[in-house]
Amino acid sequence: MGVRCDFPGLVTPDGKRWHYLDTAATAQKPQAVINAMSRALGEDYATVHRGVYARSADMTVAYEAARKRTAEFLGAKSENEIVFVRGATEGINLVAHSWGLANLKAGDRIMLSQLEHHSNIVPWQMVAERVGAEIDVCPLTEDGLIDLDWLEANLTEQHAIVALAHVSNVLGSVLGAKRAAKAAHAVGAKLLLDGCQSAPRMRLNMAELDCDFFVFSGHKIYGPTGIGVLWAREELLDAMPPYQGGGSMIDKVTFEQTTYAPPPQRFEAGTPMITEAIALHAAIDYTTQFGMESLYAHENGLVRQAREVLSQINSIRLFGPESSAGILSFTMEGVHPHDLGTILDEENVAIRAGHHCCQPLMDYLGVPATARASFGLYSDESDIDALLRGIERTQRIFG
Ligand code: PMP
Repeated sequence: MGVRCDFPGLVTPDGKRWHYLDTAATAQKPQAVINAMSRALGEDYATVHRGVYARSADMTVAYEAARKRTAEFLGAKSENEIVFVRGATEGINLVAHSWGLANLKAGDRIMLSQLEHHSNIVPWQMVAERVGAEIDVCPLTEDGLIDLDWLEANLTEQHAIVALAHVSNVLGSVLGAKRAAKAAHAVGAKLLLDGCQSAPRMRLNMAELDCDFFVFSGHKIYGPTGIGVLWAREELLDAMPPYQGGGSMIDKVTFEQTTYAPPPQRFEAGTPMITEAIALHAAIDYTTQFGMESLYAHENGLVRQAREVLSQINSIRLFGPESSAGILSFTMEGVHPHDLGTILDEENVAIRAGHHCCQPLMDYLGVPATARASFGLYSDESDIDALLRGIERTQRIFG
């Protein structure tokens, strides 16, 4: 998209082009986000919500404007549906511990899928163990999509929640979210979507997706670390008990009894991530200026090209569907993904190698790890060329 110059992180220390193919782990930051963060930490800095002085009132306006912008980005009904959390991981933990502990009981079932990130598995296991609920795992189709035929056939009225990745961080596969929502709601279950990999590359509208909970992380959408978003239907948030206690989340505190603030404040105990929220606002403005549909098409096109090029190499095994959202996993016969990653690094190509926090998916694929190339709005064909050159060099080294 010709925007590399907006990203100071995309050059090597000696001024060369850095072929950054690890955007699914974390995205590089545009100067607009760095500037917003720097201003918020510098000349604009003050706390929010409590100050009686003008700077604090201005900061509160900026912090709440970030919430409003996030609501708009998600097509939410109201900014009251936006809870700022530390990241997607905290968002899922919040839902599992607040909604989960209040609503799940012994004998209930939780439906996950084979491709979930550990952060959409472990919180549910922790809560299931406490209440005596059981976890079911939806299998994948041959090309790595969550198998919705299986899901529809196997959801029962015992299922209280279905929690699925909107886009897989390993395979790039895109969930048929509306169909999953319909299937979940047909048995009276809630649907949580892990939107970590969809928020940076897909147009989102909560009403259209028809989910009940949606989480994403700021750092994957070109914003800072330390901020994420939990969206939930207002009536669900209203009925949920607090996740953490402390300042800012209360209505009235006495030693005898404490009453709580309404959402979203009820779920934002302590001094919030003020500067991070303001920088997230800048990140959403920056990212959406290109049109989310265009971003999806751009990255989908790059994955197609990468698949085409890599499929010519006999020793390479590709995973995931033909059409995916900006993420491609592969293995190379006789070469551990970590060795490949190290050689590529010498060529200024950064990929991810490992289990990508998806050990159950690795077991299912029958590999200990994969190499993963993931694209962002700043990626282009030259990154694929560099990847190919590095792979060819690896082939020569390993004979
Ligand atoms: N879910 C998915 C699909 C992810 O890709 C990630 C990050 N790799 C997470 C959840 C967790 O996000 P975070 O570490 O930012 O909380």
